[in-house]
This record gives sequence, structure tokens and C-alpha cells, in this order.
Amino acid sequence: MDRVDLLGHFHPGFTPRREQARLLASLADAIAESLDDPAAPRVFVVEAPPGVGKSHIAMALAHWSGDAYLLTSQKLLQDQYEREFGADLQLVKGRDNYRCERYPDEPVPTSRGMCRRPRGPACQCPYARAKAAALAGPVFCTNLSYFATLRYWRAEQLRKRRLLVVDEAHGLEGQLVNVFTVAFPPAESAAWFGGPLPRLDDAEDYRNLLGDHLERMEGQLESLDRALEGLRPAFVSPEHFLSMPPSRAEQELLAERETLEAALARIRFFVDAEDREWVVRYPPEPGATLELVPLTVTSMARDLLTESAELVVLSSAYLGHRSALAESLGLDEAAVRSFSSESPFPLAQRRIEYRPVGALAKATLARLEPALFAEVAAILAEHPREKGLIHAPSYAAGRRLVADLTARGPALARRIIWVESAGAKARALELHRRSPAPTVLVSPSLREGVDLPDDFLRFQVVTKMPYPDLGDPWTAARQARDPRWYALETAKALVQAYGRSCRHAEDYGVTYVLDAQFERFLARYRVLLPEWFLDAVYAAMRARYPEAASEL
Ligand code: SF4
Repeated sequence: MDRVDLLGHFHPGFTPRREQARLLASLADAIAESLDDPAAPRVFVVEAPPGVGKSHIAMALAHWSGDAYLLTSQKLLQDQYEREFGADLQLVKGRDNYRCERYPDEPVPTSRGMCRRPRGPACQCPYARAKAAALAGPVFCTNLSYFATLRYWRAEQLRKRRLLVVDEAHGLEGQLVNVFTVAFPPAESAAWFGGPLPRLDDAEDYRNLLGDHLERMEGQLESLDRALEGLRPAFVSPEHFLSMPPSRAEQELLAERETLEAALARIRFFVDAEDREWVVRYPPEPGATLELVPLTVTSMARDLLTESAELVVLSSAYLGHRSALAESLGLDEAAVRSFSSESPFPLAQRRIEYRPVGALAKATLARLEPALFAEVAAILAEHPREKGLIHAPSYAAGRRLVADLTARGPALARRIIWVESAGAKARALELHRRSPAPTVLVSPSLREGVDLPDDFLRFQVVTKMPYPDLGDPWTAARQARDPRWYALETAKALVQAYGRSCRHAEDYGVTYVLDAQFERFLARYRVLLPEWFLDAVYAAMRARYPEAASEL
């Protein structure tokens, strides 16, 4: 058997922790076996709680391979890798994250840069250079959406590598669904079809409709090219025109062309994918965006994992049972091998406190909200000088909670930072980190991808169990197809939220759970939860129900 030395590739200057060393040793054995035996599993699942240092494990693997794709779930996490490992990886993001260098005095994104204009030159910009460096370098690091888009529509650019690491892989399915979703926002629908698309019964009807529109939309793309050509006054030479930054009107046309090109690629995919099931998401409000969403992405996931590299590592705090994971990714269970780690942190540092106000559900929420809000206010009063995070049930319920808390007095109002949308996250986090006050973030969208160590988070509140929203047609259809999926998604979301509380060996934080559905979920689905999480749950239940402690 070939010897695989992963520990020898640990990032210089760092000593692997016990859990990291164990996981790397197991992975080394499994990789050695796969090198020896072509029939051995080639997809490895690494589950480790927050704080174990999964990024160091990913980088040791990438270094060892010398030829890896390393995918993160978000651009923010790419930046984290860059901060930690700098020149050891080659990072690339989507085109719009870079500026065109030909117009140093104007912030022109590369998607509207000189080379994108009519008769623009071939050129090497920051984006092209970053992409070329990543393609040629040993560790191509990017986010999953960008990678999946490139792989599906520009597959020839991505050769098969030795290793693919997918970090935060619990979101793989959701992200792939987003990549292949065809969206028709109102402004684009007006430009492409002269108004919103009609409400049709099912995806098949939209396939017929869009099939009819395709040719015309391709004609629109040509019209946009002609309109762009026509912007140059006849008396100005192409060279001189290109030397001037694109006007606002030209940038708008370039953006329009970019959006139409991307949409056409997805519409063609949708029209051609007759054998695939699609869900129509078209909220009833006027001005809503129509979305055509693939019900499952099993085949896309399988292709991505098996064709991108010889070996695959999927890493996350928690991914669920191997069989369910393999099924959702279109893999044979025998081709997948799992490795997991316990939490390195004592329970006292990552306590759960269970304080139920009632079983929260759509039907009970209005009745139980006063008790829920009062409990949140009481918890805030118990942590007068500490920063915290409140996971709101939804944006609507979050707004009501914030209104209630702020009405309780100016001191409380000053602590609250309401994160009103996913787009407002980065600014809110920045504000929270910079403020010397005991600020408290309130949001339904901070369960994952957020690092708030030490004094940035000493307590957090899970107001409602994070069941995926069955009001969403895709979620409802996915749940109807596989009820186990729904429970597992809830378990993963719960574990992710809990993971915000203790980020490293010296860190500590308490998690309050206020929804009595928590208990029902545990009674039914405790097998779906990892041991290190259940340890904290059992301690919480023993504290809550001392009379039943012996049974727990
Ligand atoms: S490649 Fe295009 S976008 Fe990039 S610097 Fe050159 S002209 Fe600008």
C-alpha cells in the first residue's frame, strides 16, 4: 500500500490538534487504499464540529495532492482561506468581483470592461489573470456556485484534477439548485417578453412557452450587440471610443447583455431537460419573480463530484447519514466513506439551555409570540453586558420581534442590530464587531457562514426550530418526494446554528432554545443528530427535567 503522508503537509508553523491528526491519519489510510485498489471508495466525508479546524485539514489534503480544486460555500469563506493560507492557494471569484484595469479612474467591473465592448481588445485583466493562475496553480480555490457554473457551461476549461475538496458541503444540493434555477425578475421579464410571464399550471407549460420565445430572445441578444455598436458616434474612431470609460448607457446595455446571455444558457438547459422534474416558484404578489427550479440535482452533483477529480472530500460540521448523503448526490453508498470527530470542547463551553415557550408553528405563532418575545427580552436582561445573536423565525417575525424589543425601552433598542436581508449581512456584522456596546444581532439568516468568536458572541437564541419553509413550493415538493430529507435539513440547520456558540478552545457561549418543537424533533429524529450535539442536548434536558434525568 502506498504511504500517504498528510500530516507532513500540514500548514507550516501550525501543529495539528489531536482531532485533526486523527482525521488526517484516517484519511491517509483511506486514500492509500484507494490508490492501491481501484474498487475502493473515492469519496470521503469529513464531519467535524466547529473549532476542529477543517480548513487546515482541507489545506493539508490540497497540499498533499499538489493538484486540487478547493470549493467554499461563500465568497466570504474564500476570503477566510486567503487570509489564513495566502500564497498557498490560487483564488478566483466571479468576473464582477474584479475591476477593469483599462479605466483606472473609473470603477468599471470587468463584466463591462474594455474587452466586453464592441471591438474591444483581447486583454489580461485581474479576473483573467486570477483565473489563469488558478487554472495553472496547484490549489484552485473558488466558491461552489462559480465552479459549478464554469463546469457546466465551460467544462473544457476545468481539467480533471487529483483532488476535489468541498468545504461546508451540507449546502451542496441547495447551491446546485440555485445554479440551475431559471429566474425571471420583473424588470428582465419586461425587457424580454414585454411584461411578466403568465401564471401557468406547471413547468411543462413553461417549457412550451419558452421554447417559442427562445429564437426571439437570441434575436434580442443580437439587437443588443447592434445597439452597443451604435453607441459610438461616427466621427469618433473605435480606438478613441474605447479609451473612454463606457458611459452609463453603455454599461447598462453591457449588463443587459450579460444577464440575457446567462439567462439564455439556463433557459436552453431548462427547455432541453425534458426528463427532469421542475418546480414553479411564482409568489402571488404583483411584481414577483418567476423561478423554474429543478426538483433534484442528483445527476448534476454526481457529474460534478465524479468528473472533476479522482478523489473527493466533502467536509462539514454535519452531513447526515452516509446512505442519505450518497442518495442525494447520486452516488453508490459503497463509494462513500465517512470520518467524523467528537467536539474537542467541554460541554461547559458550549451549553444549551432549553426554555420552551410553546410549540411554535404557523398556526400557533401569533398566539405564542408575546411569550416568545418576553422570553427573548428576559434573556437579553440576563446578558446585559454581552454581545449575542438571535435567530429569528423569519424576516416578518423578526421585524415583529425587533419592534417589540425596541418598544421596551431605549437601552434595549440601542443593543439591537436588525439584519433585514441576506444582502445586509456583511454591513451588520461589521457594525456588530466594531461597536464597543453589547450589541445583539437579530436575523433569520445568520445560522451559518458567520464567525463570531469570543466576545462577539457569548449567547445566542434559537427562537424557532429551523424547519425549512413548506410555504415554498420547491421545499414542499422536495419534502413530499422524501420526508427524510426534510428532517435531515432541519437537523443540519440546527447543528449549524449551534455551531456559532463556541469557535475555538478558549471560546465559550450559551445557546438558548425556546421552541417546544425541539423536544418533539428529538423524540423522533435524534438518530439524525451527531453525538457531540446530543451530549449538549441531554445535559440541557437533564437540567430542564431533573425528575427524568436518569432516563436521559
Ligand atoms: S480583460 Fe477586459 S475587463 Fe479585464 S482589464 Fe482587460 S479590458 Fe478590462
